[in-house]
Amino acid sequence: MPDLHLPTGALADRIELTGLTARGRHGVFDHEKAEGQDFTVDIVLHTTTARAAASDDLSDTISYADVADEAVRLITGEPVDLIETLAERIAESALATGALAVDVTVHKPSAPIPHTFGDVSVSIRRLGVLLATPKPAAEVVVGIGSNLGDPVTQVEIGAAKLARILEYEQMSRTRVTPAEVAPSQPTQPNYINAVMIGRTRLSPLGLLAELQRIEDEQGRTREEHWGPRTLDLDLISYKIADREITSDDPDLTLPHPRAHLRNFVMEPWAEVDPWGHLRGKPIR
Ligand code: ADP
Ligand code: MG
Repeated sequence: MPDLHLPTGALADRIELTGLTARGRHGVFDHEKAEGQDFTVDIVLHTTTARAAASDDLSDTISYADVADEAVRLITGEPVDLIETLAERIAESALATGALAVDVTVHKPSAPIPHTFGDVSVSIRRLGVLLATPKPAAEVVVGIGSNLGDPVTQVEIGAAKLARILEYEQMSRTRVTPAEVAPSQPTQPNYINAVMIGRTRLSPLGLLAELQRIEDEQGRTREEHWGPRTLDLDLISYKIADREITSDDPDLTLPHPRAHLRNFVMEPWAEVDPWGHLRGKPIR
């Protein structure tokens, strides 16, 4: 399978389970349903393993034992005619673990082919919701903030670039918000904040990659490598056909975990979408 195109930030880690073998009764012929044969499955889970590596806790990763149990349940369970169908069902169960994407190969080395052959297999890739193209276009909410450089201009340029990515976009007014700093920290300049809503055909991670690209471009205009970012673009909410997409992936947590606590997000959001705040916590 070709490489997945993941945005920077999303790690292209893989968990691979190969050679998982069990007896099943899949096939179009009666004798296949009656006698059964061995099927072997390879599964690749594309995921982010950094959090599990940091915590060393099984609950922070995908349990390959659970994935194997489900796959064996499907191999040995209800017979289907085609290994395409079996592969699809195994992919669906593997994606339910929260993987970014899965590759599934089902081998049927004893298939009824009246010739000498080594193996026959079907390989499929299925994308999880964070990588899949939304149908219909997703409705998104992006928070825009800046407190470095010339924040008013940064927000203006950021919004103009964002408007080129989104369709039917609407921008809130900007507002000035004092920076939240701990008592021990030095004071920071005020923030300029705004919210833009719009629609996109980009996947959640595809959109995040674009937001990060704009952030990087704006950072570079300050001619300071690895300096503080002049522009912060946060994906607050991503909805497909009225369904809020949720994710606890640290690379992209949806809805944005802190946005609903922040009036400088909720107020401009309510300005461009009066019902928007109902999706989060109501404004105080
Ligand atoms: P914050 O915006 O919370 O002050 P940063 O912009 O520095 O912090 O955080 C950037 C990191 O947050 C990125 O690595 C990105 O992958 C991750 N992230 C997780 N969820 C989101 C989200 N909903 N929107 C934007 N970035 C997110
Ligand atoms: Mg951010």
